[in-house]
Amino acid sequence: MAKPLRIGLVLPDVLGTYGDDGNALVLRQRAVMRGIDAQIERISLNDEIPADCDLYTLGGGEDSAQVIAAARLAASPGLQAAAADGRPIFAVCAGMQVLGRTFTAHGDRVDGLGLIDATTSPMSTRAIGEVASTPSRAGITAELSEPLTGFENHMGATVLGPDAAPLGRITRGIGNDGASGVEGVVQGSVVATYMHGPALARNPQLADLLLARALHTTVDELRPLEIPLIDRLRLERLK
Ligand code: GLN
Repeated sequence: MAKPLRIGLVLPDVLGTYGDDGNALVLRQRAVMRGIDAQIERISLNDEIPADCDLYTLGGGEDSAQVIAAARLAASPGLQAAAADGRPIFAVCAGMQVLGRTFTAHGDRVDGLGLIDATTSPMSTRAIGEVASTPSRAGITAELSEPLTGFENHMGATVLGPDAAPLGRITRGIGNDGASGVEGVVQGSVVATYMHGPALARNPQLADLLLARALHTTVDELRPLEIPLIDRLRLERLK
């Protein structure tokens, strides 16, 4: 029997505040609906971070929680090894900030993992509300064609360096920093975003892109799934 697809849910005990654990559920469900065996591995603060999951998700969290997450991920460097090996990593909000070079929490500059060329500093007002963008189709997201939709809620302004590309070009909302007109990050096997929702429930094509990368195939090769409720949700959110 083929080995199940392993979806690593990274530090849900600190990065589980905004419902982004749902991204792992969506990935598992979309695999299972296609007859692909898949399981979620909850990787908690007390666990070593495994380097051999097929894909990883990280969610949002409060400032103090993300400082704890950054320290743990630096101390147990499985995610860095997985990224070096090209395994897809999907990171949301605090998860994205933690994967960058530095972020600010409670006025202190904190080192991130440096997996993406991005730095985050405080914004003057909280970015909160619907966010939508057109995919940039950079790097591993080249197959994306559908508009991206989510709910942003952050105080961090994330500025990308030359090694990072945006995930989308903003059509609604604030996005990474309120100035550059872009949302999210694509770099190597990492796709990161400020979109909560959870993002993969609202953006099934993005979920399938991550699944396809984990299965070493293309989105076109995955059996299409007809889920009218998701289509209705997208229509309603993107109108
Ligand atoms: N604490 C971070 C910020 O406010 C991330 C918040 C989040 O994950 N929603 O920018």
